[in-house]
Amino acid sequence: MEKLNQQWDLESIFQGGSMSDAFQDFLNSLTESISRFRSELELKTIPFTVNEAQAFSRLVRTYETLTKQFHEAHAYVECLTAQNIKDVNASLANNRIQSLGAELNACDSLFENILRQISDLSWSELLKNSDLKEVQFALREKRELSKKKLSSDQEQLISGLAVDGYHAWEDLYYSLIGKMHIDLEKDGKSETLSVSQANNLLDDADRNIRGKAFEALESAWSEYADLFAAALNHIAGYRIAAYKARGWENILDEPLDYNRMSEQTLTTMWTEINKYKPKLATFMERKAQLLGLKKLSWYDVDAPLSKNSSKLTYEDAADFIIEHFQSFNPKMASFAKEALENRWIEAENRADKRPGGFCTNFPIAEQSRIFMTFSGTASNRSTLAHELGHAYHQSLMNKLPYLSQNYAMNVAETASTFSEMIVSDAAQAVAKTKEERINFLADKLERCVALLMNIHARFLFETQFYAERKQGVVSVKRLNQLMIDAQREAYLDSLDVYHPTFWASKLHFFITDWPFYNFPYTFGFLFSTGIYVQALQEGPKFADRYDALLRDTGRMTTEELAEKHLNVDLTKPAFWQSALDYIMRDVDEFLELTE
Ligand SMILES: [Zn+2]
Repeated sequence: MEKLNQQWDLESIFQGGSMSDAFQDFLNSLTESISRFRSELELKTIPFTVNEAQAFSRLVRTYETLTKQFHEAHAYVECLTAQNIKDVNASLANNRIQSLGAELNACDSLFENILRQISDLSWSELLKNSDLKEVQFALREKRELSKKKLSSDQEQLISGLAVDGYHAWEDLYYSLIGKMHIDLEKDGKSETLSVSQANNLLDDADRNIRGKAFEALESAWSEYADLFAAALNHIAGYRIAAYKARGWENILDEPLDYNRMSEQTLTTMWTEINKYKPKLATFMERKAQLLGLKKLSWYDVDAPLSKNSSKLTYEDAADFIIEHFQSFNPKMASFAKEALENRWIEAENRADKRPGGFCTNFPIAEQSRIFMTFSGTASNRSTLAHELGHAYHQSLMNKLPYLSQNYAMNVAETASTFSEMIVSDAAQAVAKTKEERINFLADKLERCVALLMNIHARFLFETQFYAERKQGVVSVKRLNQLMIDAQREAYLDSLDVYHPTFWASKLHFFITDWPFYNFPYTFGFLFSTGIYVQALQEGPKFADRYDALLRDTGRMTTEELAEKHLNVDLTKPAFWQSALDYIMRDVDEFLELTE
């Protein structure tokens, strides 16, 4: 590939960056439309009947248009704030987007209420309108969810109070982390590091450095533990109180609804994972031996086995991805090529960019943008493939009505993980030396440990924590104990040193928008592995089925999706076993190569 520009193009979305007049006009007109829509919703006090089919579908279309426009604006601001964390105008625009989001939430709750009040008879007639045929799933889902909620007034009150009584705890959590300093002794000098700098040392090749960083982090988390425990207890307390008011008994109700999956599927997934864990533990045992240890400690799990790593250029990475996408699905390859050439990707390695990576979509422009920092590692190449997977997923949905484009987190990671798998399998296949091969396998298996054991520990911890929180506030000492118990169980007691303050260090426990932000990762990983296994069996003709599956992710439940496109029952073990069997082959090869 010719030399690529590593800065993304936002000008084709709105001209002028954070000072864009076009964007200001767009926001002004959106603000006005949302406020007009809100009044319209407030005036609609008598339920819709069969005779008002036209008016009803007009209302649905307005709702759809406004959420779509909001998404477009939101994505733009997300890009502006990520590309330059010091851009003051971008953060002002971000504040505006947040208050606009709150307005739209209020509309949401009024809209749901309108759906709920329609009689069953009128409802089924109204849905027959050809205009609404393609968004039936979304409308039904909204109506069902709103039936589980309190009255619109009460729900609006809850979300109003949530700003300061719930979400504020998450903000406070981030402020606290920003203030933390980690003091570390290195080469005889003492250094002061930020949390993320110290975290980076946890996979240093030198065990002495890893161990010291781990101890320093543990002691820093412990120092602030009472504050983190307060935040965690209040977030959970708020959630439990809201669930109680709505009559939701099972703490998993909300996350399962959100992920459009049944509890049976979740239980089957964990049960099958547990059966395969002993095998994964043999990988960890061997890794310990290779590092000259009896058992791994928490800070050894991601330790590199060797120090060498060759650098890649951005163009090398792009070529590699396109070449291997091509052999699986030519449409994916040409999509990736266009995204790279049309500057949909911000990859430049420069200061003042936000860390991490994401893919965001502009539903009106029907384009996506990928954000990352490319510094030439193989892991950067994986990230690029991952994010291109997300963008490809969206490209298949662009032509659908916006209300059918909304997919849940558990399936959101399907296309991304799948793309990553294509690239990592290809890289493994072309690995030249035995050492390279061992390193690839170790990388992949460490990811499995994270997804099958670490995430499981988080799930076990949260489940137990919520059970105890219902009885009252849970102390720091008890939180540490719950965490160690969860880790021992999830890692089959295979580690030497555990991480008691992990509950304080993982921001996922403090995210208020998505409860139980853990199992969707594991689900997405195994779901896409299972799809990959089918793709390998079927060869090139699977590509069309793959596209069709992705296209349906926003308009059916997870179980329906698997049944329709993969012909499998997610509540039964077979599918999960096929994915886990495939993963465990890497353990065999790793053990053989390191004999
Ligand atoms: Zn992702």
